[in-house]
Amino acid sequence: MNTDNDKRVIIVGTGIAGYTVARELRKLEKQVPIVLISEDAGDFYSKPTLSNALAMNKTPQNLITFDAGAMRTQLNAGIIAHRKVERIAVDAHEVIVNGAPLRYGKLVLALGADARRVPLAGDAAADVLSVNSLDDYARFRARLDGAKSVALLGAGLIGCEFANDLALGGYDVTLIDPAATPLSRLLPELAGDAYARALDRQGIRLRLGQSVASVDRGASGYAVTLGNGDVIAADVVLSAIGLAPRVALAAQSGIDVDIGIRTDAWCRTSAADIYALGDCAAIEGKVQPYVLPIMHAARALARTLSGEPTRVEFPFMPITVKSPASPTVILPPGEAGEWRFAPASADPRDGLSALCEHAVDKRALGFALLGTATQGNAELIKAMTTGAF
Ligand SMILES: Cc1cc2nc3c(=O)[nH]c(=O)nc-3n(C[C@H](O)[C@H](O)[C@H](O)COP(=O)(O)OP(=O)(O)OC[C@H]3O[C@@H](n4cnc5c(N)ncnc54)[C@H](O)[C@@H]3O)c2cc1C
Repeated sequence: MNTDNDKRVIIVGTGIAGYTVARELRKLEKQVPIVLISEDAGDFYSKPTLSNALAMNKTPQNLITFDAGAMRTQLNAGIIAHRKVERIAVDAHEVIVNGAPLRYGKLVLALGADARRVPLAGDAAADVLSVNSLDDYARFRARLDGAKSVALLGAGLIGCEFANDLALGGYDVTLIDPAATPLSRLLPELAGDAYARALDRQGIRLRLGQSVASVDRGASGYAVTLGNGDVIAADVVLSAIGLAPRVALAAQSGIDVDIGIRTDAWCRTSAADIYALGDCAAIEGKVQPYVLPIMHAARALARTLSGEPTRVEFPFMPITVKSPASPTVILPPGEAGEWRFAPASADPRDGLSALCEHAVDKRALGFALLGTATQGNAELIKAMTTGAF
């Protein structure tokens, strides 16, 4: 006999991925029982706002748009907060929470990622913060109270955004990265140089080509020692060196993982009736830890869960770097190509556009737009989508 428990869709995770699947599924299926389980409080907030909340004058509490209670009502779903899913009994179709089994018909893993940590020497290495959740952000804001200076490890998207936000908030910011330019995984070097100059004009001190060796307690605050022996004094040290998809729960339960939880183009994992998306998932071999791909995957997955198997199709999805010092939009090329650069105006401070094209057939592969050149973003995407580029 089929019971409600056999139809139940359990979603583990209440980040953008988990909640968007729930919302999209509820639009399609009014009756299906949905239960979300989360280690955190289950409050809904937009994670990208964590790195520009100071400029928006927002506290951690007022970043929450709907608390778990409001989400429960909105979605007509069960929300089990502050509980960790410890194990998945794949054959029995059960998740184990607090030692107790809960049966699912379909299970969605939207587990997110952990902040990566570099192994650091020094008596204050454990004090280095990272921000990948609202709780992390609340801890970070508490430590900023009374602080004047911040050392930031990692000049990727999140590090650069925090550097901008902190500088605008009046903090003295030092941004440290082993690469020669900021946003080195996203921008070609010439554009990275232009971006670095914009950060510099904002008053952000850049220590590029340098890694951090140790963090120690100083006379006041911390002493951050670089690989070349230089020491930077800072009241707060924040690490933003990247994310590692959370794969342990899936791996322990016998589900295939590699750089993320492996799924096909329908978000199906190697286990029957188990799906994955968001920062924890490698959909067709690619982890795309950004909001736009998550929204596309969530919409397709909701259809699949409602009985209409739907392939995830990703359109061109540019990445926006929220850095007022240099607004930046990047469509990373999917393969190697040749970059062409053009200044946005006669004044180099206005930014530039960089277009990447295939060396032989001249197909457009991607772009990077800085400063006022970002205004061309929509037009470029349209041209690439229609093949008119
Ligand atoms: C500071 C910052 C700025 C960003 N800025 C941008 C931006 O400008 N643009 C952009 O596109 N992207 C940005 N991103 C990335 C984007 O925010 C993420 O890709 C997205 O929020 C990830 O959502 P998620 O639901 O996959 O993961 P998460 O939000 O991490 O959610 C994971 C959920 O899983 C739960 N969970 C995990 N394990 C378990 C378990 N075993 N049991 C129960 N619950 C569990 C957690 O409690 C949590 O609720 C930014 C990220 C950060 C950190």
